[in-house]
Amino acid sequence: MSIRLSPAILDLIEALKKLPGFGPRSAQRAAFHLLQNRDGSLDVLGEALSRVRGGVTRCKLCNTFTEGDICPVCLDESRDPGLLCVVESAADQMALDSSLA
Ligand SMILES: [Zn+2]
Repeated sequence: MSIRLSPAILDLIEALKKLPGFGPRSAQRAAFHLLQNRDGSLDVLGEALSRVRGGVTRCKLCNTFTEGDICPVCLDESRDPGLLCVVESAADQMALDSSLA
């Protein structure tokens, strides 16, 4: 017999299942973690999602994610504007950038 969950919890699990690396079990585990750690996890994640949703757009120069028109990488005057590296995703850009530090 399975436990009947409320629609809100089922919706949370379904949303988490859409994230990369999350399957049904890990989505359910994450959902219950969030619900059991409201102050430390759920509220913090909710606030972060809200801030990203309302304030993150694409950099007008390089198309990575940023707050404002131009990202911190493009604003960094110590970088050589003559060099260009094309990557598939913002995650790849972050990994490459941290490997060069
Ligand atoms: Zn940029």
